[in-house]
Amino acid sequence: MKPIIGINCDYEEEGKQPYSFTYRDYSEAVVAAGGIPFLLPIIKDKSDVELLLKKIAGLLLPGGNDVPPQRYGEERQEKTVCVHPDKDTSDFILVGTSIQMKKPILAICYGIQLVNVALGGSLIQDIPSEVKTPIIHKDSQNKRYTHTVTIRKDSLLHKIIGTDRIEANSTHHQAIKRLGKGLKDTAHTADGIIEAIECRDYPFLVGVQWHPERMTGSPYHLALFNALIKASE
Ligand code: MN
Repeated sequence: MKPIIGINCDYEEEGKQPYSFTYRDYSEAVVAAGGIPFLLPIIKDKSDVELLLKKIAGLLLPGGNDVPPQRYGEERQEKTVCVHPDKDTSDFILVGTSIQMKKPILAICYGIQLVNVALGGSLIQDIPSEVKTPIIHKDSQNKRYTHTVTIRKDSLLHKIIGTDRIEANSTHHQAIKRLGKGLKDTAHTADGIIEAIECRDYPFLVGVQWHPERMTGSPYHLALFNALIKASE
């Protein structure tokens, strides 16, 4: 039976009727890997989230704006654009409950940062302001832009992708600073920026800083979704 994969929605209300949404790439990637996507809007009741998670086999945490720095004990810096407070509340309940329930999780971009902060880690609020690096991590102009990511050999990520180095896109301005409890960094760019994490004492919790859903034409990137589906079966 195909597993149902919950996809956490983004949320916007600026200048519009408030709406929850996800980019189609995410649901298409779940379908391509053999799962059934199911979109999750803002829900702020923990017991409702528990009930919902019992119906869902795995969880996909997509990209989005920034985690409010108060979550990791810092003041918001100029370049930090926080998610809506209702989404923030909902996201921490969703991630906290999912981790308690040991649900398989694939976290992407904002998703990896959310998992890291939910487990007590912190973030670099803006790479260009805080880190001296020749590598461009936020490329918004060139859709084909990639940088090289080196993957640790002793990682689940290496087992999934099956190679030491891959080309990955990059559209993030934040990154993991201090790792959350139980997390290992499993891939980096040459400047030391953390590009992937996983949790060892957990059935399947993998996070990547890039957007594999936009590169599923490559077996290396599709492999991440295949691994989530397999872990959710
Ligand atoms: Mn990057």
